Amino acid sequence: MFENSQETKTNLSELGEFGLIDHLTKNFAPKLTSTKKAIGDDAAILDFEDNQCIVTTDLLVEGVHFDLAYMPLKHLGYKAVMVNASDVYAMNGKATQITVSIAVSNRFPVEALEELYSGIELAANIYNIDVIGGDTTSSTSGLVISITALGIAKSEDVVYRSGAKPNDFLVVSGDLGAAYMGLQVLEREKQVFKANPNAQPDLDQYTYLIERQLKPEARKDIPPLLKELDVKPTSMIDISDGLSSEVIHLCKNSKTGVNLFEEKIPLDPAVISVCEEFKIDSTTIALSGGEDYELLFTISQEDYDKIKGNPNLTIIGHMTEENEGMHLITRANTKIPLIARGWNSMEKEEEED
Ligand SMILES: [Mg+2]
Repeated sequence: MFENSQETKTNLSELGEFGLIDHLTKNFAPKLTSTKKAIGDDAAILDFEDNQCIVTTDLLVEGVHFDLAYMPLKHLGYKAVMVNASDVYAMNGKATQITVSIAVSNRFPVEALEELYSGIELAANIYNIDVIGGDTTSSTSGLVISITALGIAKSEDVVYRSGAKPNDFLVVSGDLGAAYMGLQVLEREKQVFKANPNAQPDLDQYTYLIERQLKPEARKDIPPLLKELDVKPTSMIDISDGLSSEVIHLCKNSKTGVNLFEEKIPLDPAVISVCEEFKIDSTTIALSGGEDYELLFTISQEDYDKIKGNPNLTIIGHMTEENEGMHLITRANTKIPLIARGWNSMEKEEEED
């Protein structure tokens, strides 16, 4: 969604590629001492001293990962940074620099790209990240954004997906399912708008859900919080695809099983009420919805007292021996195999067995 209401629409060809890069990146002055050279040379130069360097990259394609019918370009820029920063935090690191590359068709005027970059700039400022380079090129159809994020961690602090042990507690930050339900609300409004372009949507009661979809916040605060609590997770991953698929990643990488308790999964009241409205099971949404960008990790049982009662963290299960399998324990206290699709389809599968 291109929000510029002014008449000015500058064609991309008026600036040329180098002019465009200069124009879009003029506000990206480096803030971090580790950024020795940012934009303006053949390559950037970084100095992380005795830290390990974390690198992660993500590609966002119009029509596949985002829909500009309801995604404002500024939010898209913000979210593109969050998606990448979240992967750095999932290694228990600190995000420090990003490169931003875009392929764009000439249906986008310069002003549209300014909005995209203003979202990137906002995220970079709030999360204390330097934008150190990138590329722009033309695309025959839609918009493609590729961001590479760099981060740092002390070698002893890095957490992989592979370190969980049987009996470790499974912990999640924040709450789950809101981003997916925000998308459902936006999709519904898009259909209403198509049928009646004069319809004025009243989205007040969905504010939290829509914000979680359009303007997610990566959990920058969790690695320092864990450090402060003197807890080093045994394994960690961020939740981009839905809780069940991320739990399965931890189990497979760590060679463990899991018991995940349905009643412990943290849900915002707004998720519970919108799921009732859409007649969808809220557990299914938390398990399979995705895009929450919360952190999922395991801790050894002896660290239980350190995180107990922390409002940011919820214990949702515990790891088991690998041969015990991966299970969801429902509210009715039945044990269902955990698969990446959510538990309604699993129940069906069990009946078929
Ligand atoms: Mg990830």
